[in-house]
Formats: sequence, structure tokens, C-alpha cells
Amino acid sequence: MVYHLAKELNLKGYVKNDSNGVNIFFNATEGEANLFFEKIKLGAPLRSKVISARLVKIADQRFTDFSIVVKGDDMCQKQVLLSPDLAVCPDCLAELHDPNNRRYRYPFITCTRCGPRYSIIGNVPYERHATTMHDFSMCNTCKVEYTNVADRRFFSQTNSCTDCGIRLSLYREASTMLSNNTETVLSAIKNLLTEGKILAIKGIGGYILVCDANNVQVIQLLRSRKHRPTKPFAVLYSGIDSVENSFELNKQEKVLLESTAAPVVLLYPKRTAFDELAVSAIAPGLKRIGVMIPYNPLFDLIASDFGKPLIATSANISGSPIIYKDEDALDYLFDIADYVVTHNREIVIPQDDSVLQVSKYTMQTIVLRRSRGYAPAFIRYKPKTNQCILSTGAFLKSSFTLAVNGNIFVSQFLGSGESFESQLMYRHTLEHWLDMYAVKPDVITADKHPGYFSRQYARELAGKFEVDLKLVQHHEAHFAAVLAENNLLHKSEPILGVIWDGTGLGNDGNIWGGEFFQYENNKIQRINHFDCFPTIAGDKTALEPRIAALCASYNVSEQSALLKEKFSVTEWNNYYSLIKTAKLFTSSVGRIFDAVASLLGICDKQTYEGEAAMYLQTLAEDYVAENGLIMDGSYFEEGAPLNRVPTDALMRGIMMDIENGKATNYIAAKFHYSLVCLIGSIAMDMGVNYICFSGGVFQNALLVDWIKNKYAGKYHLCFHRELSPNDENISFGQMVYYENKITTVPVVSTVKPNNSEADSDNDPENVKKIYDSVI
Ligand SMILES: [Zn+2]
Ligand SMILES: [Zn+2]
Repeated sequence: MVYHLAKELNLKGYVKNDSNGVNIFFNATEGEANLFFEKIKLGAPLRSKVISARLVKIADQRFTDFSIVVKGDDMCQKQVLLSPDLAVCPDCLAELHDPNNRRYRYPFITCTRCGPRYSIIGNVPYERHATTMHDFSMCNTCKVEYTNVADRRFFSQTNSCTDCGIRLSLYREASTMLSNNTETVLSAIKNLLTEGKILAIKGIGGYILVCDANNVQVIQLLRSRKHRPTKPFAVLYSGIDSVENSFELNKQEKVLLESTAAPVVLLYPKRTAFDELAVSAIAPGLKRIGVMIPYNPLFDLIASDFGKPLIATSANISGSPIIYKDEDALDYLFDIADYVVTHNREIVIPQDDSVLQVSKYTMQTIVLRRSRGYAPAFIRYKPKTNQCILSTGAFLKSSFTLAVNGNIFVSQFLGSGESFESQLMYRHTLEHWLDMYAVKPDVITADKHPGYFSRQYARELAGKFEVDLKLVQHHEAHFAAVLAENNLLHKSEPILGVIWDGTGLGNDGNIWGGEFFQYENNKIQRINHFDCFPTIAGDKTALEPRIAALCASYNVSEQSALLKEKFSVTEWNNYYSLIKTAKLFTSSVGRIFDAVASLLGICDKQTYEGEAAMYLQTLAEDYVAENGLIMDGSYFEEGAPLNRVPTDALMRGIMMDIENGKATNYIAAKFHYSLVCLIGSIAMDMGVNYICFSGGVFQNALLVDWIKNKYAGKYHLCFHRELSPNDENISFGQMVYYENKITTVPVVSTVKPNNSEADSDNDPENVKKIYDSVI
């Protein structure tokens, strides 16, 4: 673009890509220079983002022509932004399907506007020699394109073709390669899928498991081999038209699906979808299905050859991150897949597919997983310092954030932090970044929870780099993140932060998750929370909503009739004695969702995080679909004291409605509505204009819709924008908290004190013991 413009204006000089961005040197009069500068900014390519630009006069140099310098001297600080991977563009797709084109059916066709970036980059700036395209040398025809300014592939770092490029190969077992002829492999893929086989296919960010989405037997087989009994799978359609045919699709959802990020978008199936999809096997108990269209030419060929929707899910061994190395794929994936399809371009940085949804009634876009196509670009925040700050995030939805040379990078979702493999991937990605930017952190921030891998690793790195480790409370980090994303940090008026999630260590040593904070003049104060209830049996509580129900209603006398039948006599007695001697309490709204789901009899044990809450939401959606966003009352009585949130009153109200035979979908909806009303009363009591929302609970699109429906116009309602409301945003929030020197007003615990020394900054071993059993 710059080259073309310079030629057009007849300017002499050169342009080069350095690790601090694009640098252009040229001879011009002041008028010409200004015109060139403005034209560059205006004409910036569609997929580029201009963060800053300046025009300066430098010492005299004379140029005779305009040229592109391939390698910079790289003496400057590395601060160039990394581009996410870009979905295959329409021009390349047209060529892919054109029998007269020389790249007809070449599964790795790309141009300057599309193709992998972040997943193949070994160093900055982004140039071929710094990527895993380095292993492929261009044939003469490709070279001509690469050097021809008029060509779409001029300077395209991923340029390759059938003659000089990447090759597919098909394996039936690790030692048996059936073919490495690309066209033979492609037709075998089609046949094997038709025969009902499960294939692991190397995509952009890692291996993806693929099978017929209308074949219940193969889907069940995939579930049993993957040890994934109910968690929904995403489906891959060949193009936007077939998606539109089978799903309700609004404009926003269409834009997301067709964007360069090409994420999975949750959509409501139309009747027609049921003819071509085994809907209840794909997303048991849920209303929405995750849908995507091909983001790379290989998947485009596979989906269009097969002609019907396919299951497409990350290939991993339960709980571990996506597999992206060929040797791992061949070693491990034959336990799940019948065949493995690989290719000879290496993936450097593994990524899952990103997942988003648009809420049904108020069209709020909610990021559920930020990964391929979005990470690591992040432009909504400019740090004040040039310090290198590393923030290591939380646990179950791990990510890290790096502030380096005045830019912010938020990593992709890095797995659950539970498995050794997830921890390895976290280390691998972080070390890769520190290498790429040739930096070492000046300070590290981490969660207060001593049992989190991210905290332990932060401590290890702080020792290694001899820098300070600063701890930031989990929910305060959430709040800081949503404040920063909405540009509210400078506000001096009070702002309410509603921060609800499953679990996070509080400043008083208890497990928080149902918090109301106030932000004012750079200070965060916890002003209210759900009344705490005992948390027992460690991580079993998160897995078994029936235990959450028992705990959340521990002081409600009506409970025994409803709950007893869910337990054996021994279990009941055991859990009861644990409750009586409980030392750890929680205000978690996530656990309250679980508890209500169990009380309503829809989920007593869950097999994936958020399962019970999603079923509860689905029930409430049924009610709202018939009755609208209207409800006859809240479980929190009008005029109830505002200085505490009575969890027991909520549980008692629900139990009474169950006793009285109210419909479950009514109760589920009334529960949602009660939460909405609660937020309103607290906001009114505080007299705020701004309300911020963060935490995994706000992945619930119905809750978000109801909040917006009731309060839009009355309050500025601030949700996350580029980041997910779940714990993926914690690393960014930790960085914001530290960078803005936010302070916390000390909290006086209103709950029964537990017997540990609660100040987790001191990291007492006894706290650690308790929490190890909780996470
Ligand atoms: Zn392209
Ligand atoms: Zn070639």
C-alpha cells in the first residue's frame, strides 16, 4: 500500500517493517509529506490497525527510487503488534475452486489479506524467515508474484503453491502413512467421513477432530473416546449460505461468522437444521449450537467436498490443551481418531477456536473464549508506562497479559491450568513471547490464590528475574479489567462493579464470587456480597450441584424434604457434619446457580464447568420465549436491608415455589429476574450512574439481556468488549490494577470468620492447605 502510494505521488525513499512497526523514509516537500502521511493513514489496509503514527523531519538523505527493504537493522525496541491469524479471504476461496487457477484445490492458498500469522510466527517482525514458512522456498512462479507490486501476493509471507508448498499426509496408525499426495488425501477424507470415521486433522492452531454431524453413532463414539459425555460440540458448515438456511442468524452474528477471526458463534437452529444435524447428540439439553464456517482453505475443501455439516472440536486428551505437534498427534490421537491427517508446516503457537455469542434480545456480543483470530491483538488500552509488566492470570480459564514498550498483549485462552500439559503450554507460550520481544519483566502480578499454577509460576519467575511479585485479588482484577475496557478508570464519581463468578480467593480468606464493589478515585471497596455459605468437599462441590444446594440452603429449615432424596443416608450424614464444622465459606453466585439447578431437579452432577447453570438458563429462556422479559416479583423482598444479600431468603423462596408446584421454567426465570432486581436496588441505593459487570456468570446471555432490558437508559451499563467476562480477563485486570496504582479499601468481613490468618499476602501455609482442596 505504502509502495503504491509513494509511486503514485512520485516520491523517492524506502519502506521497511521493523519490530517497532512500519518505517518510511522519503524525500519530499512539506506539502507532499503531509499529503503522503494523510493518505497512508486514510488508506491503511482493511485488516491493519493504526495505533499511532507520526511524521518527523530527519537528517538529509537522498534517494533515487522508492523501494521496500526486507530486513531492518532491528536496533529499536521491539514493539510491533502481532497479527492474529486471518481467515481465508473471498479472493483466495474463488481461486481455490477455479479449475483454471494454478492453485485449484491447493489447501494452503493465502495472500496478503489472509492466512496464518500468530500461529506460525517465531519472531517479530512478521516476515517469512521468522515464520515456519521459512522451511519452504518459493518456486519461480511464486517468486514472481511475491516481487510484483501489482500482484495480490506482493510481499505475501505465506506465499506458496502446489509445486513449492505444504503437503498433506494421511495416517491410519503412527507408523502407517497411507498417502502424502494432497489430492489423494482429500478424496480419502471425504470417503472416510462418509463411512462414519473420526478424523483428526491439523488446522491452524492445532489438530481438530472431525466427523459427520448427522451420525448419532459416530458422535456417541467420539463422546465416549473423548470422555466427554455431554459437553456440546461445535459444527462446521461449508459456507454462510448453508448456515443461514439452518439457523436463525442476525446481522451481527453473520458479521462475526464472516469476520477474519471466523470464530464459533452460538446460534439457534431452525427446523431445517434438525434434518441435517443430530442436534440432541451435539448439544444435549441446550438450545444453541456452536457454528463456524471454514477459516482455512483445507477446511473449506473438506466441508464443501463432504457437502454436509461436520462436528469440529479441538483434539485433546481430556482436560489437556489442544494437540498441535505432529509427533504428539501421532502418539496420542489414535486413541480417539480412526485416522490422522497432518501436513508439513509447523505450528508454533497452539490456539483453540474462539467462541462468541450475541444475546437474543439486546444483541450484546459476549466473548466466551478468546483465541484464534483475536489473540494476541488488543488495542482497547494504552499503558501509561513503558515498564514490562507480566500478569499471570487465574486458573481455570488461564491467560497472561504482557505490557511491553507501551503496548498490551493479552494471550489466547491457555487451558484450564489443571493438567500438567496445560501448564507446559502456558510456559511454552509465555517463554516464546519473552523471547520474541527480547524482554524480561520489571514486575510480575498474580492472583492471591496460593494454589493456582499461575501464582506459583509467577513466584518462580519473580525469583528468576529478581523482580517484585504483586498480588491482586481475583474479583478486583475482574473489576479493573471491565473498568479499563470501558475507559472508566479516570472517573471520579462512584461506579458499581457487579462481579459474579464461580470461585476466587477473597481478601478475608473466604471464597468470593458474589461481590458488589465500588470504584471511586482509584480505590476499590467491597460494599456488599451474597451472604456466605459453607463450602465443603473440595472440588466435589463444583462437580456436584446437589452439594452446592445443600450448602447454599444450610440454614433453611425447609431444605431436607427436597434434598434428602438426592443423597444416600451416609452421604447425607457425612456432608452435614462437614457443614457444621466448615471453616471455609463462599459468596459464589456460580455455586448458587448450581444449587438452584439441583433444587429444580435438572442437574445434580455435572460433567463440565457451567453445565448446570446453562441448563437453568435454558429453562428460563423457555419461560421468557413465551412470556417476554416480564416477571411478577423477585425472591428478594422489596424493602429488605440493602447492606447484605440474604442468600437464605433466595433459597427459601425457591423452595416454597417448588413446594407450591410452580413450573420449573417459571422458577428458573424468576431466579434470573431476582438477580436483575438485586442489582437495581443496590445501584439505586448507591446513587451511581455507571454499573460494570464481570465474572463468568455474565456469560449468561439471558441475564445480560434482562439487565439491559430493565436498566438501559437509567444507567450506563458496561460489559466486557474484546475480552471474555470469564477468568480469561483476570490477567489483564491484574495488569490494570497494578499499572493504575489502584488501591483496595480494607474489608471488614461480615461472615463467620474462619480460623486461618486471612491475609493471603502473607501466604500462610494453612490457607494453602484449605484452598488446595477447593480449586
Ligand atoms: Zn487471500
Ligand atoms: Zn510455488
